[in-house]
Amino acid sequence: MKRLYLMQVGFMPEYQIPIVCYLVQTGEGKNILIDTGLPEIIPDEASDFENGQDVTVQLANLGLRPDDIDMVISTHYDIDHAGRHAAFTKAEYVVQRLHHLDAATNPRFAALRAQWDQPMERIRLIDGDIKLLPGLELIETSGHVPGHQSVLLQLPETGAILLTIDAVPFSSSFTRDEQLDSSNPDAEAIRASTIKLLDLVEREQVGLVIFGHDNEQWETLKKVPEFYD
Ligand SMILES: [Zn+2]
Repeated sequence: MKRLYLMQVGFMPEYQIPIVCYLVQTGEGKNILIDTGLPEIIPDEASDFENGQDVTVQLANLGLRPDDIDMVISTHYDIDHAGRHAAFTKAEYVVQRLHHLDAATNPRFAALRAQWDQPMERIRLIDGDIKLLPGLELIETSGHVPGHQSVLLQLPETGAILLTIDAVPFSSSFTRDEQLDSSNPDAEAIRASTIKLLDLVEREQVGLVIFGHDNEQWETLKKVPEFYD
């Protein structure tokens, strides 16, 4: 992989958290989007989100049209991650099979169905961890939702970068300690995925871990038009 761009596309004022997505460019000139952010019009039941600059506008600022996106890696179908999938009409969507199948019947993902329910010939279903491309691995991290995935990148200068996405939304949760919120029915799966990523950081000597919604960290990171290479 050649470059990683970080884009903030929205905000959740109540919790002061950024809504983000990522663009990866390969040495061969392929453009890979990781998530697409919030929908243009936010439904009433998700009114705690606030739109910022749309992903398509941020791509335009980099000289890219939606049709220049070759692939959309979809970490999961929550409203702040899959809101603009349908804008990328030439892209192949890459998602965990477990997640895509769960979403078909899970009311949590119904609001965004028109975005993620694309023709099957344009969706690549993945089972578990996979080296998708040289320098780009998908890591299955269920817990936040079934079949959530995180992304491990290798860049020439920066080295290994882990995008935890919502498996670990905040740096404070990146710990082997048990979290206090044992009322959460998914707490065990969340913890297992957290430990899986902690192990991966050690094994792959990851120098930069980017958390899914960590405002404090986000303020310290390079955002478009800057990039990691
Ligand atoms: Zn999220």
